[in-house]
Amino acid sequence: MRMPQSVVAYTLSTELERTVAGLMLPPEWRVRIELRRRKTLGIEVSAGGTVTLAVPEDAAPNDIERLLERHVDRIARAVARHRGVEPTHPAKELIDGEHFDYLGRTYRLRIATDTVPTLQIVGDWLELAAGQGSKPTATHLVHWYTDQGDQLIAEIMPALARAAGLSVPATRIRDLGARWGVRERDNRISIHWATFQLPEDLVELVLAHELTHLRVNAHSAAFWRELSKLVPDFVSRERRLAQLGSTAWLGAIR
Ligand SMILES: [Zn+2]
Repeated sequence: MRMPQSVVAYTLSTELERTVAGLMLPPEWRVRIELRRRKTLGIEVSAGGTVTLAVPEDAAPNDIERLLERHVDRIARAVARHRGVEPTHPAKELIDGEHFDYLGRTYRLRIATDTVPTLQIVGDWLELAAGQGSKPTATHLVHWYTDQGDQLIAEIMPALARAAGLSVPATRIRDLGARWGVRERDNRISIHWATFQLPEDLVELVLAHELTHLRVNAHSAAFWRELSKLVPDFVSRERRLAQLGSTAWLGAIR
């Protein structure tokens, strides 16, 4: 039930306030409710990321809940845009000294000349050998993140699934574009390989989020409630995910 920054513009019924608070909307949303003499519900996102809900005077709390649930993804994108936290994913150079993150730690790349292709952490270095006659490519790194990610998921997913009362879902690591995770139609979970640059507690958040979708499809009040059982501090983790995630490397090479 956290929504500390919400601003209530007019006096509202406590029922309406409680409904909005109960939705556990993302903490970066500044929600403002305005009662208006109008027939339909409206959502506006303004500069600074304030979300204004224009509510007909006789609207039922259920209507507001349904409207928010239906548009939560679109509002989230608009809020991010208006707050100027548009992602700035870097392009990397595959040369000695370039920085790569793994589970929240930064390592420097060292191109090795071993004849056998390898990629491994050695102290503070990420040592990459493309193998005889081959040049290092982003694919080497993507495969490495994928392998590491598979191992980490095998370690932490069983406990999460148990906590959620579910059997361990099949997971697959792949390139998901601008998304960290997806619950697939066949109830498998896909995770972006880039996720494994983030600290482990944020990887856990992404896994818990998709796991929760196996129970609750939409980002409804029930969804946030279930997620909070797995990750009680999910609000602060989501804030860090938005911050750290916006500069994660998504595979671009320069
Ligand atoms: Zn989701």
